Amino acid sequence: MRALLNICLMLVLLLRGYSIISPDKHGINNNPAKAKSAAKSGRYTVDEIMSIRIYSQFKINTFIFSPAQGSYILYGDGKPVDRIDNTNALKIGLYGNDSIEVHMVDARLGKFKTLKLVAQESERSFKLRLVAPDKKPRYYQGELSVTVENKLLRVINFTRLDDYIAGVSEAEAGKHSHAEFYKVQAILARTYALGHIHKHAEEGYNLCDQVHCQVFYGITNDLVILDAVKQTRGQVVVDEDLQLITAVFHSNSGGQTVNSEDVWGANTSYLRSITDSFSLKMPNARWQRKMATEDWLSYLKLRYNYPVDDSAARNYALNFKQESRRTYLEYTGVKIPLKNVRTDFQLKSTFFSITNQGDSLLFSGKGFGHGIGMCQEGAMCMTKCGYTYKQVLNFYYQKVVLLDIKEMAFFKEN
Ligand SMILES: [Zn+2]
Repeated sequence: MRALLNICLMLVLLLRGYSIISPDKHGINNNPAKAKSAAKSGRYTVDEIMSIRIYSQFKINTFIFSPAQGSYILYGDGKPVDRIDNTNALKIGLYGNDSIEVHMVDARLGKFKTLKLVAQESERSFKLRLVAPDKKPRYYQGELSVTVENKLLRVINFTRLDDYIAGVSEAEAGKHSHAEFYKVQAILARTYALGHIHKHAEEGYNLCDQVHCQVFYGITNDLVILDAVKQTRGQVVVDEDLQLITAVFHSNSGGQTVNSEDVWGANTSYLRSITDSFSLKMPNARWQRKMATEDWLSYLKLRYNYPVDDSAARNYALNFKQESRRTYLEYTGVKIPLKNVRTDFQLKSTFFSITNQGDSLLFSGKGFGHGIGMCQEGAMCMTKCGYTYKQVLNFYYQKVVLLDIKEMAFFKEN
């Protein structure tokens, strides 16, 4: 009976002039093995389709899907169910522990294990609004798949690389920055996306939409950002061995960036400490924090067995100074990693000096973030002063080269 209904629906859709396209032949790159081999071979295309798990930090129970541009075919368990255009919306919710129930206005379309929403036109986008939990709507390009995982809905967006890059550039860099700065962000976002295309391969998609990968709240309609993505189309940053760089960045370096090994242990050729005067006049260049002297001393003693009863050692810890960045607070063999101090006290950076004020201490710090790679505020300052995106990238990442994705494949093959 169900097979007959499907055949009838396909006939109706064909008669209406809609092509029936299988979701798995529609550029939906949900094959982790394929993603892995693409990452290894370096054979990317400028029109790569990325699979991004969206709303990945939420426990999704119910959401509303409605086309914004173009029409969509709803596939339930691999079979076409109905066509949806921008006059319609679907309410998609968890049913029991392991199924998905779909409603269109007043009609119940059925209950399925998997859903796919496959676009019929090349210009396609949709609006998605979470109902439980309740969130304001977001817009996405491309297509959507829904499955159930651990009694919650798992939602994956299949989107063109550059639409994703534009969304990430806005989410990571905010609005109203210089056009040239968005070119920097776009290239870094593209480099990261392709370099980490297999990051969630075991889970069946490329990247999540949180800071674990890159923040992505859907597409943007900001014309400056869209133009920056277009003008840098296909461009990525590679190191001396033509490997895509780990394009890390932070908010403000405080005047000096950090060697990668000082935070992560691994020495990376392009992530070297540099003097960065561009960051100094920017909003996050400096910070201050008061702390009770007793809290600081008991932390040093309990966590690191620091000799606080030795007056010279105590004096050193209460008046610790950094002219240039240090990795440790170190006194006669006791080494305290400043990155741990930063995490434990939630300080803005490791680049701080201490002034002893008796019962309390004043921590005066520079910069915001881990300090590795590009300083975003410094890059903003550079582009405002007329530096190009290439100059910015070559300033913050050492001995790197900008390449087109196509050239990268060429070099790898030869
Ligand atoms: Zn992730």
